Amino acid sequence: MAQITLSNLRHSYSPNPSGDADYALKKIDLTWNDGGAYALLGPSGCGKSTLLNIISGLLVPSEGKILFDDQDVTSLPPAQRNIAQVFQFPVIYDTMTVYDNLAFPLRNRGRDEATVKERVTAIAEMLEVTDMLTTRAANLSPDNKQKISMGRGLVRQDVNVVMFDEPLTVIDPHLKWKLRSKLKELHQRVKATMIYVTHDQTEALTFADQVVVMQEGEIVQIGTPVELFERPAHTFVGHFIGSPGMNVLPCDVRDGGAFFGDELIRLEGPVQSNADGAAEIGIRPEFVSVSGNGSGLDAKVRKVADVGRHKVVEAMAGDRRIHAILEGDAPNAGDSIKLAFKQSQTRLYKDGWLASTPGEGVQ
Ligand code: ADP
Ligand code: MG
Repeated sequence: MAQITLSNLRHSYSPNPSGDADYALKKIDLTWNDGGAYALLGPSGCGKSTLLNIISGLLVPSEGKILFDDQDVTSLPPAQRNIAQVFQFPVIYDTMTVYDNLAFPLRNRGRDEATVKERVTAIAEMLEVTDMLTTRAANLSPDNKQKISMGRGLVRQDVNVVMFDEPLTVIDPHLKWKLRSKLKELHQRVKATMIYVTHDQTEALTFADQVVVMQEGEIVQIGTPVELFERPAHTFVGHFIGSPGMNVLPCDVRDGGAFFGDELIRLEGPVQSNADGAAEIGIRPEFVSVSGNGSGLDAKVRKVADVGRHKVVEAMAGDRRIHAILEGDAPNAGDSIKLAFKQSQTRLYKDGWLASTPGEGVQ
């Protein structure tokens, strides 16, 4: 296994790129530590597969380098990089049995049959496919085919990294949660570096210790699931993570204060010196409280959704929609209410980027 470093990486599929818009990856600098569980999270088309294929060697980047520890592997073909990749759709040999499919990557490397048997048995147990070992792969359900595909990625112990590119796409929704937690458990047992690519926040946040969030060919934030939730570095991360995502409200910053209309909104702490003028306030629905006649922003309830564990209130403050997540009693549609924001969780964003810092003693 190895530490993987991406340095000054850029990639364009166009032979003559002229501007940033022609680059699927704009500029990537990133280090994946040995043994880590990472997720690469972002909407479709943001460059996730491009990045994975550059790490595995299926693509050579237009610019920049890839290092495995200190070795520059930028121009090495996939076979010499010692990585395992699991794709969106199962890659298995239909005519072989499940056992032979799982054994293939090991036999291919010249492992003796005793080692093959030991590894195949162990992986089959972890994936709960032991009873299928003698079945021909052609006869498996799509879910089980993908499980075997994952098993083929996990069976070797000498790989630098195991990469999963949206592996649960073909899995039935009711099995997804099971495989998701299985993968997490497998990471803890196998201890290989794993990179899990997905556009689904739940998959990313349950699997990874560190999540890399991408947008339009760039990394916007790297952090633990809690860091991404609590301090989104960019409004994009605030929107993309959370359900519903962070409320983002236009504001005007003057005299060190942020005004939404005429209301001064109390922020977590001081703002960057260049924040004056148009900016945005970010507050997660979890930190918005509702009262009938307390202090706060005047708003009118548009809808209330009961989602089981809590209620999601959608209210309008002027022409702005604000969500609040409430644990207990909620108002009714049509009610006039006051919305209050928890100060320590109220952030300022300038040009999309976080521009406030936590202040002392702010509750
Ligand atoms: P993701 O995996 O996040 O959905 P991709 O890495 O597949 O994103 O794609 C990133 C961008 O590169 C998209 O705009 C996509 O259309 C473009 N792209 C991907 N593959 C190719 C290709 N083989 N040729 C040209 N453009 C491509
Ligand atoms: Mg993709």
